[in-house]
Amino acid sequence: MKALPPETVRLLCSSQVITSVLNVVKELVENSLDAGSSSLENYGLDRIEVRDNGSGIKATDVPVMAVKHYTSKISCHEDLERLETYGFRGEALASICAISEVVITTKTADDDFSLQYSVDHNGQIVSQKPSHLGKGTTVCAANLFRNLPVRRQYYSNSKKCKEELKRIQNLLMAYAVVKPELRITLSHNKAVVWQKSRVSDHRTALMAVLGAASVANMFPIQHHQEQPEIGIDGFFPKPGSDFNSTSSSSPDKSFIFVNSRPVHHKEILKLIKQYYTSAQSDKESANRRYPILMMNITIPASTVDVNLTPDKTEVMLQNKEGVLLAVETMLISLYGYSIGDDDLKAGG
Ligand code: ADP
Ligand code: MG
Repeated sequence: MKALPPETVRLLCSSQVITSVLNVVKELVENSLDAGSSSLENYGLDRIEVRDNGSGIKATDVPVMAVKHYTSKISCHEDLERLETYGFRGEALASICAISEVVITTKTADDDFSLQYSVDHNGQIVSQKPSHLGKGTTVCAANLFRNLPVRRQYYSNSKKCKEELKRIQNLLMAYAVVKPELRITLSHNKAVVWQKSRVSDHRTALMAVLGAASVANMFPIQHHQEQPEIGIDGFFPKPGSDFNSTSSSSPDKSFIFVNSRPVHHKEILKLIKQYYTSAQSDKESANRRYPILMMNITIPASTVDVNLTPDKTEVMLQNKEGVLLAVETMLISLYGYSIGDDDLKAGG
C-alpha cells in the first residue's frame, strides 16, 4: 500500500467540494457577500468570473487566500456557534484552483491600486501585476474542470450548459430575494441574462425576481417567538390563489432560508406544500406543483449545523420539532385551519 501523491489527493478532495459550475458560482458569490459587497457581477460558464465591490483582500492575506483551510472568518470551532458568514472552511478558493486556472484581482480601501494575481493549482501566487479595477475582488476561474474529463465533457453539451445557467440564475435569485440591497448582474457570452438593482425591501426584491403578477398574489408572513427563539419572515401565496403565477413545477422558487442561507429542507417544504395543496380546489394538480414563496427562518447560530454537505445547502436543526411547529403555527394562522395527522398522511 502507498500514500497517494499530494496532487491526486488535492484533486480527489477538490472535485468533491466543487461538484458543478453552479457550485463554483455559489462559493464565489458567498465570498463576495461575506466581504460585505453590495454589487455582484457574474460572467460566463466555461470561464466564470465573479466581481464584487466588497472589502477586498489585505496584501498580507493574499499569499494564503487560496491555501486550503486558511480563512478570515473563524479561528476555532467554537466560532461556529456564532457564525454570521456563509463561508468558514477555507476550502473553496483552494478547491477551485485545483480544478481550474484562477486569477484574483483585489483592492482594499487602504490600497492605492488593485493587483491581479495568477494562482497555481496549489493555491500559490505565481505572478502579480497592477490592475485598473476598483475596490473589491474579482475572481476568474477559467478552463473549468480541466483535469476532470467526465465533468468537462458534461458541460460541453449545450443543453446541459443552458440548464446550468438556469440553476445559476435561480441561485442568484435566492440571494437577491434575501438581500434586497444587493445589485446583481448575470451575464453569459457577453450578454446580460438577468439583473436586479438595489432595492430597499423584500417585497420589491421579490417583484424584481418573480414579476409583479406573482407578488400581487402573495401575503407577507411573520411569526416571532421567544423560547425557543424563532423568527419567520417572508411572503406566501394568498390562501386559495390558484396555481398560475404563484406555483412552479419545481421547488427552485420555493425560496427557503435559515439565517439568510438558502437551504433545502425536505420536511419544511413538505409541511408547506401540504397546507398549500389543501387550500387549492384542484388538489391533484396542486400536488404536482410547488408554491412560489420566500421564507427566512431566524434562529440562534448555535442551534444550526451547516457543515453537513460540501455545498452547505443542507442544515441540521437542533430543535427541528420546534422549528416545524413554528412554521406550522404560521401556516395555520395564514390558512385559517390546521391539517390533522390523518390529512398529513393522506397528503403524502
Ligand atoms: P472561506 O470562505 O471558507 O473563508 P474561501 O476559500 O472561500 O474560504 O476563501 C478564503 C479567504 O479568502 C476568505 O476567508 C476571505 O478572507 C478571502 N476571500 C475570498 N473571496 C473574497 C472576496 N470576494 N472578498 C474578500 N475576501 C475574499
Ligand atoms: Mg468561501
